[in-house]
Amino acid sequence: MDERHGLNHQEAQEQLRRFFQAMPREIPLLLFCDPGKNEPFAEGARQVIRAIREVTDKVSLREYTLVHELAQKWGATASPTLVFADESLQIRWLGAPVGHEVQSFMEALAIIGFRETGFSEPAAKTLAKLEESREIKVFVSPSCPYCPQVVVNAVRAAVARPELVSLQIIDIQVNPDLADQYNAHSVPQAFANDKLIGLGAQPEELFIASLLALEPQQFFIPDSDAEEVACDLLIVGAGPAGLTAGIYATRSGLKTVVVEKGMLGGQIATTPMVENYPGFTQVGGKTLVDILVSHALEYVEIFPGEEVQTIEPGDLFTITTNRRRYRARAVLLATGASSRHLEVPGEERLAGRGVSYCSTCDGPLFIGKKVIMVGGGDSAATEALHLHQIGADVTLVHRRDRLRAQERLVDALKQAKIPILFNTEVTEVLGEARVEGVRLRKQGSDQLSNLPVEGVFIAIGYVPAVELAVSLGAELTPAGYIKRDQHHRTTITGIYSAGDVEGGYKQIVTAAGQGAEAALAIFEDLVSPYWVTKKGGQAGGK
Ligand code: NAP
Repeated sequence: MDERHGLNHQEAQEQLRRFFQAMPREIPLLLFCDPGKNEPFAEGARQVIRAIREVTDKVSLREYTLVHELAQKWGATASPTLVFADESLQIRWLGAPVGHEVQSFMEALAIIGFRETGFSEPAAKTLAKLEESREIKVFVSPSCPYCPQVVVNAVRAAVARPELVSLQIIDIQVNPDLADQYNAHSVPQAFANDKLIGLGAQPEELFIASLLALEPQQFFIPDSDAEEVACDLLIVGAGPAGLTAGIYATRSGLKTVVVEKGMLGGQIATTPMVENYPGFTQVGGKTLVDILVSHALEYVEIFPGEEVQTIEPGDLFTITTNRRRYRARAVLLATGASSRHLEVPGEERLAGRGVSYCSTCDGPLFIGKKVIMVGGGDSAATEALHLHQIGADVTLVHRRDRLRAQERLVDALKQAKIPILFNTEVTEVLGEARVEGVRLRKQGSDQLSNLPVEGVFIAIGYVPAVELAVSLGAELTPAGYIKRDQHHRTTITGIYSAGDVEGGYKQIVTAAGQGAEAALAIFEDLVSPYWVTKKGGQAGGK
């Protein structure tokens, strides 16, 4: 009697027999081995399959050496390799299903034999969006109890999208060289197209989201089918201001949603390193975004990939995006700012071909290459340091005779010996298909010179995203930011602002603070007589 499962051997066999009887498909397995190489593992695989064949003949096994032509056909190069020889699938097991991997193997047989992935609806919907091929490698070991979860997710993906997804399950004990090659010294680890997508076990939605993004994801936001969403507060923008406002508003009792057209986290998502967000001595921008978004998701629903097209006032605001409609009592514009352009010839034409506004995103393409970073503020200094650290040959080009970046960053530039061309303006980006250089002008002279470079990184500040505010008739400050009162009320009743779109210091911590202030003010306005008595009169405006 198997005490743990309360079944004796015969009953367990009977259950398995019935399971395989119900399975609509046969599963031919091929075992490729070099005689004598990793023999105990090959024998382990044989024994497991023999035991299965005691209850069913729907699973078959044929064995070949690695020099057999079938080994080439199925891409088997390591001994032992077990192939699920279903022509429509690409699933190989480099090693043997022993130890905890017996569980993975049985689940794989079920998924393949029944062609039922068992994915949750959100996971299936996300995987359906995959458009490019993915070669998954999952590194496992028989003694790892967390590995089966990752193997099962990967098998489900390979069965759900067989035309795009292939899978290798790699036992690190049998294949130490491969494990070394991928630095997979802990299990489970999942790679797709040779990029790490998961370290440790992941829930299926996160696994699929990571598979699509080709990097580990920390949160999963399911697609919504709703045509109309009703809420108290709609926040436009999922940067630190919008996300913080979402947390505060929901905690105040307001039903709040956040709509974001671009990258969650806003500008921080592309900031290489943040060193001045309290509580974190040093944190990668993307990591901070993950932490912020995960926190916000505890409170608010976030609608990513949606652009607000119109906001119509009325008893309630009607907000229309490219996906659906929202009805809200108040709207918070936390729309942030976008990168300022140099507006010189060649810049637009060569954008994405050597001209970049994001060193974190594009820097790795310029390792060992000569590039310039244009700008003299904190962004230019931080990003020049980042480019230098990853191995690009970077020169800073600034239009004035001194940088406006913080002293600490200026010192770091000096320490890193990053050359700085002061009083120098970029007048043109040169190149046909790719950036080949820049034309420079010394301030106060007509003297022009060409500098050959392969990359032009630009960090010269931001332009506030005020279009929605303007479309509503909200007033702007002389500097072009949204005009607001001390409670973040714009000149339009029911419309508020927070973060970089308001101007000011433009720090992550100040944006977060403004988001919190705005949310608290909105809560007070929605529940207090102010809303009634002052309707039609805010920020000293309309
Ligand atoms: P910024 O402080 O406004 O600096 C923009 C820089 O670009 C200035 O040096 C400016 O030159 C130059 N510039 C502007 N227009 C130009 C043009 N057309 N051609 C050439 N140069 C031009 O912008 P930022 O560096 O992006 O920083 C924005 C805010 O974020 C700041 O408040 C900053 O402190 C903050 N930030 C903080 C960190 C951090 O680590 N704490 C990192 C990044 C950003 P002039 O100096 O001549 O005006």
